[in-house]
Amino acid sequence: MPKFAPRMSRIVGSATLRMNNLAAQKRATGADVVSFTVGEPDFDTPEPIKEGAIKALRAGRTKYTPTSGIPELRKAIADVAAREQGIPCTAKNVLVAPAKQSLFYAFQALVGQGDEVLIPDPAWVSYDPMVRWAHGTPIPVPLEAATGFRMTPEAVAKAITPRTRVVVLNSPANPTGGANTPDDVKGILSLAIEHDLWVISDEIYRHLQYDGKPLSPASLPGGFERTWTIDGPSKSYAMTGWRMGWIIAPESCIEAADRLQSQSLSNATSFAQDGVVTALTGPQDSVAAMKAEFLARRDLMVAGLRALPGVTCPTPAGAFYAFPHFDAKQWGGLDDTALAMALLDKANVATTPGSAFGARGTGHLRLSYACSRERIAEGLKRMAAFQGAL
Ligand code: PMP
Ligand code: GLU
Repeated sequence: MPKFAPRMSRIVGSATLRMNNLAAQKRATGADVVSFTVGEPDFDTPEPIKEGAIKALRAGRTKYTPTSGIPELRKAIADVAAREQGIPCTAKNVLVAPAKQSLFYAFQALVGQGDEVLIPDPAWVSYDPMVRWAHGTPIPVPLEAATGFRMTPEAVAKAITPRTRVVVLNSPANPTGGANTPDDVKGILSLAIEHDLWVISDEIYRHLQYDGKPLSPASLPGGFERTWTIDGPSKSYAMTGWRMGWIIAPESCIEAADRLQSQSLSNATSFAQDGVVTALTGPQDSVAAMKAEFLARRDLMVAGLRALPGVTCPTPAGAFYAFPHFDAKQWGGLDDTALAMALLDKANVATTPGSAFGARGTGHLRLSYACSRERIAEGLKRMAAFQGAL
């Protein structure tokens, strides 16, 4: 067989999606698996949003759209960002693309050979490979459980070198649920201004912050011109399968992302864009209702984890992940990968090993609590039984 291109050695598959696939495979054999793997709300997309897309389909909105997105959606996104995030933007500052794809464009547009990109450690599994794919060097910024996994300006300052080009913020964060304080965001933006860095601010969990309030760096003086804000409806409107999202950035950045999009995706799915217009312009009560339920699940998950021997778990301020540490001495000497595999094999509980999220995730598991309270309680019961039998 002919060989793949050398660049393929720079990309690994997503560990979160891999664990999700393993759980699905086991389920397909008839096993009753409790899945705490993928970060995806168990709720169905609210009915009015579906109706918006169905109406668009019926009206024949099934053709290519402008590459940056339909004007109504770009305007709706800009209006929400200005109102809720305080970002000084208009429709011209918006490109519609799935959130993951949006991040891919951002790294492709900003990162060159040998450029250093500061990413949180632990962080969501896709930043590191996306930076490498752009020929950049990911530089981990250590986050501490003791501070609730905030990304502090002090830790960022220590990681800056003359080669630093981009700093990535993700708050509330995957996989820790940590949230940066407004002072963290202000301090990191000051550093970005001082060192002339780009900022990529992944705010996809901004609706799901339970403690404290989110602050967008693009809303601060000197922030907008250097920040790519990434957002989308997947988590807050239960729309993961729609593959939608957006970039908010200066016009020159949108023009760059538009060029990348025009040569890859062409445009986000036409009728799905209409569904998102409905989501953003319609009643927002389902967002609040889902958030309230996630908060109840968080409290159940965290309390249950803390009751397990050898487990420490900071309270996640947002998103729908808990990121507890497991003392291997009380968990059969298993490291996080072995523990995740054993829990799946023996207890039918699927989790993601913390080391998939960076060196500082070692010894942790990520548990997504985007599933029902009954399943959370059942999974915790199985984990306790598994530990008791070790
Ligand atoms: N950023 C973070 C931090 C995420 O957790 C996810 C979820 N997969 C994404 C971006 C990508 O979101 P989407 O699936 O909407 O592309
Ligand atoms: N972000 C989600 C997660 O971390 C979905 C999977 C992915 O995109 O990696 O589980």
